[in-house]
Amino acid sequence: MADNVNPDGSERYERVMVVSAHPDDPEFGFGGTIAKLAAAGSVIEYVICTDGCQGGEDPTVPDAELRAVREGEQRAAAEILGVRQVTFLGFRDGSLMPTLELRRAITREIRRFRPDLVLTHSPLRSINGAIGASHPDHLAAGEATLCAVYPDARNPRAFRELLAEGLEAHRVREVWVGSVDGADHFVDIGPYVERKIEAIRCHVSQFQKPGWEPDAPARWVRERMRKVGERAGLEYAEAFKRISTA
Ligand SMILES: [Zn+2]
Repeated sequence: MADNVNPDGSERYERVMVVSAHPDDPEFGFGGTIAKLAAAGSVIEYVICTDGCQGGEDPTVPDAELRAVREGEQRAAAEILGVRQVTFLGFRDGSLMPTLELRRAITREIRRFRPDLVLTHSPLRSINGAIGASHPDHLAAGEATLCAVYPDARNPRAFRELLAEGLEAHRVREVWVGSVDGADHFVDIGPYVERKIEAIRCHVSQFQKPGWEPDAPARWVRERMRKVGERAGLEYAEAFKRISTA
């Protein structure tokens, strides 16, 4: 399956970093692609920017309690997809902005792990897709990640304090942002749809909403991935916009 993952037919992606706003974003957005990359031999790490403490509709649950639950759910989901490590940056859920502080935190992770490929959110609001895809935290995480890839991580003069931590400049080869509007890269996730659903099911706290039936996540994923696949002549697909960093 590695040939489909790498559209150029060039060397495969040895290290892949997924940067998302919330726990559960990697699975919903890129779960099939992550499973496929892992099966092709990539080492994959997650960086989750926020603590997930707004991911619920019961205001009486203490933040610390929800944060712990969601971290556990995220680690379980990552394990199912073959992800090596999950790093939580701990920014407050619902308040994420593409600040220098966030850029520095993501740059630190990029320089530590030195990925070839970074997957993240689009920094642009889509007015065609569902409004939830353009959550302000997603836009902020996408923008900060692109800033971290270029110029921060590759420029040794940016965030010079990171050099003192032994974190040398690193050039990421490619970025794929999840895309509704401008997709130019469709990953065939046919063999990995069930794995994606299994990983999404780990986020139990996110499905305790009135009106959710037990099979709702699976149905949603299959319908959504089938729709994306139609655009590329595939049964099930995830869509990205590829950004070259050359
Ligand atoms: Zn999210």
